[in-house]
Amino acid sequence: TQFTDFGLAQPVLRALEEAGYKSPTPIQAQAIAPAMAGRDLCGIAQTGTGKTAAFALPILHRLSLAPKRAPRRGCRVLVLSPTRELASQIAESFSDYGRHLSLTNTVVFGGVTISRQEKALANGVDILVATPGRLMDLVERRSLTLEAVEILVLDEADQMLDLGFIHALKRIVKMLPKERQSLFFSATMPKNIASLADQYLRDPVQVAV
Ligand code: AMP
Repeated sequence: TQFTDFGLAQPVLRALEEAGYKSPTPIQAQAIAPAMAGRDLCGIAQTGTGKTAAFALPILHRLSLAPKRAPRRGCRVLVLSPTRELASQIAESFSDYGRHLSLTNTVVFGGVTISRQEKALANGVDILVATPGRLMDLVERRSLTLEAVEILVLDEADQMLDLGFIHALKRIVKMLPKERQSLFFSATMPKNIASLADQYLRDPVQVAV
């Protein structure tokens, strides 16, 4: 498989070429086509396998094909990540792969002043990467609404549960539109994670590397 086989939008392909990516990693080879087609995904993959691009590329492709103004104080894509480090990396990847598209992204996490994040969200963003605790704070302060989310990504779901985010996660997913695409990634798939995936995903494509 080559990146050109997927029919990804030209600006996305151009960014990949500039990044020096020659061919898709195994998780990318399995995940990109179904995610581009709008399918839900349940992926078992560790960090370092290229899983960020596995979800970021199809998301950028889909947003570029369906341009829409990001809603005020809202976002079109919500990516949940367990740690600020990972969240920042994911946001950087979206900026990288999306450098030839005019889409906006921002990252929010706890431990820093909330007012700057509130300002960044005021006019809405296309892609929001967040840790669950800070996301809930922003929602409770009415600085963020989740009613326009079209795509949800849960990254490192097992870590998210290990870090005690299950309660926040459940509250967040309840606020999302039922009609959405959901992409779920975890390094391991113990019973509690599998049952979460079962609840949140609709007829998911299973991918594992
Ligand atoms: P990740 O597993 O998403 O953290 O990605 C691990 C590293 O692999 C990152 O530094 C990416 O830039 C890089 N990477 C992802 N996909 C590819 C690819 N298809 N070819 C070369 N490098 C890649």
